[in-house]
Amino acid sequence: MGKNTVAIIGGGASGLVAGIVSARGGAKVTIIERMDRLGKKILATGNGRCNLTNTVLSVDHFNGENPKFSMPVLSAFDVEKTIEFFNGLGIYPRVENGYVYPYSNQASSVLDVLRQEIEQLKINVVYEEEVKEIEKKKNQFIIHTNGNKYYTNKVILCAGGNSTPNLGSNGSGFDLAKKLGHRIVSPYPALVQIKASENYLKRIKGVRVIAKLHLYIDDTLKREEVGEVLFTDYGLSGIPILQISRYIGEAINNGKKIKVLLDLIPELETEALDKILVERFTNMPYKSIEDNLIGLLNKKLIPIITHLSDIKDNQPVSQISKSQRHKLIESIKNLTFNITGTNDWNQSQVTVGGVATDEVDPNTLESKIHPNLYFAGEILDIDGDCGGYNLQWAWSSGYIAGKTIVKKTN
Ligand SMILES: Cc1cc2nc3c(=O)[nH]c(=O)nc-3n(C[C@H](O)[C@H](O)[C@H](O)COP(=O)(O)OP(=O)(O)OC[C@H]3O[C@@H](n4cnc5c(N)ncnc54)[C@H](O)[C@@H]3O)c2cc1C
Repeated sequence: MGKNTVAIIGGGASGLVAGIVSARGGAKVTIIERMDRLGKKILATGNGRCNLTNTVLSVDHFNGENPKFSMPVLSAFDVEKTIEFFNGLGIYPRVENGYVYPYSNQASSVLDVLRQEIEQLKINVVYEEEVKEIEKKKNQFIIHTNGNKYYTNKVILCAGGNSTPNLGSNGSGFDLAKKLGHRIVSPYPALVQIKASENYLKRIKGVRVIAKLHLYIDDTLKREEVGEVLFTDYGLSGIPILQISRYIGEAINNGKKIKVLLDLIPELETEALDKILVERFTNMPYKSIEDNLIGLLNKKLIPIITHLSDIKDNQPVSQISKSQRHKLIESIKNLTFNITGTNDWNQSQVTVGGVATDEVDPNTLESKIHPNLYFAGEILDIDGDCGGYNLQWAWSSGYIAGKTIVKKTN
């Protein structure tokens, strides 16, 4: 390595795109990867299908200290350009409700075409070397790995976050950035299942409901989501739960009270539900409350709901008072869980926090502290919602970092 060379630290989603773009522009690129192969995480994305982007792209789907930081990059390399880029590599898109997948429905296709392009461009790839330190000496960077030193004048740090360390990203990128003087916004696991203290969860594990959920932090409504929630023996899972999980780690750490309220019949307003219950109670007065609710609620949930409403399971509905009925409605529409935490890094799909964006140029992704040092992907303090947004951030930021280097070199 030497003058006009680019070292890319981390051969994941952002590093692969950054490498391709820099090499296409004429740079001599070396990717340094700590694992024995490139892009391991890509294989696990989208349940093995790789949800590579989403046609509905806006700042609302991105989070961090300053979500707007992501916009110049996402506008410069947007969904259309991303689909075009991958189409150029061979990925024909399949769009399902805005979620974009490879037509083959195989995440491995996405990794295959990226790897083929890396080979075709003769990009040098170093495997099984973890970067331990990036030393800045005058206009040069010296990259220390376990075993080697590399000299280069441009670096793109694409080492990801802390999530799923078995797939490569072990948080070491944050240490590298910190040693170079960058501020790191505290990382927490996100897009992860959440834990709750309710003992009855063990009795309803495996039950799925379509619900509207409200996340309250210290009694303030933080976020609403609708979708399928899965009860587990330790808490809650499912896409709407993953979506709200980014707020939990930090709130717990700051000693805040977190509650999730589930509306189990979101299609019906309270009055409409009351009317339906009155009808059911009138039409089937001989049934116990437990039997009467069958067909309206999941059978395993019924004893939980009646217990929370202070109604005995075997109480005939003919004896249920108006106030008991209202309590029942309250339990159905506001089933409350006290949240105690999230699952750990091994289960989380993305990392909240990372390199603070106020020290990075939003148009070029160059460090404001060290010229010729760039960041791309999850290492930055930007995390996206579930639905293709995190990969879109990785592709766009990798593309912009690579493109800027090419522009500056030529
Ligand atoms: C199970 C799962 C499913 C997901 N599904 C989706 C999905 O469908 N859609 C979506 O948009 N997002 C999805 N994501 C999130 C998405 O995969 C990541 O946000 C994205 O891969 C981040 O790209 P990255 O390049 O920043 O980091 P990574 O892909 O994590 O790559 C970082 C690379 O750097 C290497 N590395 C780290 N430290 C060092 C070091 N010190 N020296 C050398 N190499 C190093 C790692 O080994 C790794 O290869 C999913 C994540 C998971 C875990």
